[in-house]
Amino acid sequence: MPISDHEGSGVHDVNPSGALGFATRAVHAGVESNPITGAIAPDISVSANYACRWGELGFSANATDESKIEFAYQREGHPSGRQLELKLASLEDGEDAIVFASGIGAISGLLIYLLSPGDHLLISDICYAGAVEFAHGLLRSKGIEVGSADMSDLSDIKAKLRPNTRVIYIESPCNPNLKLVDIEAIAAIARSISSCLVIDSTLATPFVTRPLLLGADFVVHSLTKYLGGHGDALGGAIIGKQAAVRELRQSVGTHLGATLSPFNTWLILRGIETLPVRMEAYARSALKIARFLESHPFVTGVRYPGLESHPQHGLALRQMRNGSGVIAFTVRDPEAFGQTFETHLKIFRFAASLGHSHSLIIYCDTAALQRSTYQLDAELLARYRAFAGVGLFRLSIGLETTEDLIADLCGALDAGADRGHVTTQTSS
Ligand code: PLP
Repeated sequence: MPISDHEGSGVHDVNPSGALGFATRAVHAGVESNPITGAIAPDISVSANYACRWGELGFSANATDESKIEFAYQREGHPSGRQLELKLASLEDGEDAIVFASGIGAISGLLIYLLSPGDHLLISDICYAGAVEFAHGLLRSKGIEVGSADMSDLSDIKAKLRPNTRVIYIESPCNPNLKLVDIEAIAAIARSISSCLVIDSTLATPFVTRPLLLGADFVVHSLTKYLGGHGDALGGAIIGKQAAVRELRQSVGTHLGATLSPFNTWLILRGIETLPVRMEAYARSALKIARFLESHPFVTGVRYPGLESHPQHGLALRQMRNGSGVIAFTVRDPEAFGQTFETHLKIFRFAASLGHSHSLIIYCDTAALQRSTYQLDAELLARYRAFAGVGLFRLSIGLETTEDLIADLCGALDAGADRGHVTTQTSS
């Protein structure tokens, strides 16, 4: 059964502590009506400074309550940011959260906080390119050992562990090839060697997967993607245990200067209110589009967690509420098809991001993966190609009418055929 058919089962919709349902928390968590004006929608709090009294650090709404932090200077935190942090902690079933100016701000801040020279970081062979570049570049130059593993293969992970492995860094689904990783199993491995499991759950969102409940220590998000949802605000977040988040706030939260602006905070807060309905719409549309692509004669392969043909569909059923909105597919002669797509696609736009109301397409070249960003050795590259083929197009399905998106893709694929990219093979 495709995972979208499970929608509405409510299995994941209830907080294990018996609190409110996910959709209710998406709207209400973290945000209270303004006690002075009665405003229900969140205010934007733009002040750079917060008044303090002689001898005090900063203004505190309620200094005795652990969840209320003091505000002194916007770079160190502001009331709008705090609303977003409390909402994200609630949605991820975490104790606390801290927000950053971007997803990579959150990722780099967390890894700097967790790792010291001499430590070993084991990072997923395939995940967001910026995280891999940061690990192999800056972290390595500061004396941190970095290794890669195919995180969908537990034996490969175990083989790559070292006595000094401090952090295992995963993503699920992996961007861009949509491989999945078994979060619960990897959390058990991390615990057995007293290392820390960090997961970038941007492609899933807390609507689809709740990694902290599966044993992860920290969840990171690019809020720029599904959580904000409209492609108009960069943002990032880390969710984890309260003590760790407090330390993060006092270290990288304050000193990296990657503060989320109040206006972006407000846009993301607003975006999250509709996250549950958007994630259901994305997944419904993506499943139909993935099925269309699978049936198209010019398409050589499709990877979408919601498809029964996904090699890890069983894991998707266990760990994902639906397939989310990203699809990867391959065609014969992708370079030539790419040019045709650029001229013939009328709704899909070529763009690097994902998780927005507009549908987007991007080409990921496997050869480039080897040369630059991922620095894959021959074995990991072969594994990548075996899973997702050589060169793939990544679609981020938006909120447009599904039939229009299918017609757009169909028109561009047929135009590619007319230009002869697939002449001899289509009849075979
Ligand atoms: N994580 C994933 C999975 C991403 O796709 C991206 C950006 O593409 C990031 C993190 C980085 O997020 P940001 O662009 O907000 O820095």
